Amino acid sequence: MNALPRLRALHARLERCRRCPKMIPPVVHGVAVSSPVFLLGQAPGVKEGPAGRPFAWTAGKTLFGWFHDVFGVDEARVRERVYFAAVARCFPGKNPKGGDRKPDDTEVEQCRRWLAEEVPLLAPKLVLPVGALAIAQVLGHEGPLAEVVGRAHRGRWHGVDLDVIPLPHPSGASTWHRTEPGKTLLKRALRVLGAHPVAKTALR
Ligand code: SF4
Repeated sequence: MNALPRLRALHARLERCRRCPKMIPPVVHGVAVSSPVFLLGQAPGVKEGPAGRPFAWTAGKTLFGWFHDVFGVDEARVRERVYFAAVARCFPGKNPKGGDRKPDDTEVEQCRRWLAEEVPLLAPKLVLPVGALAIAQVLGHEGPLAEVVGRAHRGRWHGVDLDVIPLPHPSGASTWHRTEPGKTLLKRALRVLGAHPVAKTALR
């Protein structure tokens, strides 16, 4: 069954969502693409709302650079071939101590309802949670990233059995992927991603 019409209808409802009083609209989502590869980010930054797409700024440059290194594809191709979602779809605002505010538990819970519709609808075979908050959502892992990044996991998410390849957050505010052991573990994770048959088929 073609999921696209239902996905577009879901996006139309998602765009009107204003459940979280502290979140700053607009809602940001990726292209309605029926893909077996599902990328889960944390939340849009200040630039993504006006740009109208996730990973539109510096973190995106790094993230799309990783895809280019692995598959030789450009950003447009990745956006056409991978479904982009996030733990929270609105900009949480700035953290007074620096960086963006992390979505709180209530916001994560509220926004999870969208994922609970999208995941069964798309039934992805591979999910790429990007950053600690997304990894916690998919794998339930809240310990150090080094315990999970660098390999593939088998998981069940919103009732769908799938492979999980966790990636660190590419944000410039994070040094994890630029210092050891993160640097080596990121390389390993990208090698695993490049060898994954679902990712290879989707992104070739
Ligand atoms: S973060 Fe999610 S649940 Fe909250 S208002 Fe935005 S779209 Fe709705």
